[in-house]
Amino acid sequence: MRVRPDNAERNKSEQMRAATSAYHKGRKKNYRCGPVARPLCDRIKDRSMPVPWSGCWLWLGALDRDGYGHVMIKTGGGNEIRRGAHRASYEAFNGAIPDGLQIDHLCRVRCCVNPDHLEAVSCKENLHRGETRAAINGRKTHCKNGHPFNDSNTVVSNNKRVCRTCRNDRALSDYYRNRITNGT
Ligand SMILES: [Zn+2]
Ligand SMILES: [Zn+2]
Repeated sequence: MRVRPDNAERNKSEQMRAATSAYHKGRKKNYRCGPVARPLCDRIKDRSMPVPWSGCWLWLGALDRDGYGHVMIKTGGGNEIRRGAHRASYEAFNGAIPDGLQIDHLCRVRCCVNPDHLEAVSCKENLHRGETRAAINGRKTHCKNGHPFNDSNTVVSNNKRVCRTCRNDRALSDYYRNRITNGT
């Protein structure tokens, strides 16, 4: 006998319901067994999705305004505290974050919680690596005309690096322009 499609659908949803209730039953039982919370490592793996090409683990839980994931962690007194998912992941896999250090994403993906992509750095270092204008300029190795920012070709002016070759060229052309306009 051929099963009508709507019957097949019904069977499927019944199976799903049975599977879901069995799953919840099992979980409830586990929960009643004791106050032991699931290890944080497992929770982080469960709530993130690995991306094959980048290796990032994208956080599937809640994100804050800035795009960082966060996770609720039970404290001893039965309270819950909110923690950055990447910070929690770093601590769960790599150990405690040293005092005063921030967790930096080497991959620059804010919702990534892969502990291998996370590094504890000082605040200053983190800003330097970030996407601020100063950081982007700080990472440039050549000026806009392709001269290298090396020791002999770099002048620091107003806290900014200036290409010595370009500056000398500018000074020279200013000099000749003035000579021409002044008629000397
Ligand atoms: Zn990543
Ligand atoms: Zn230059």
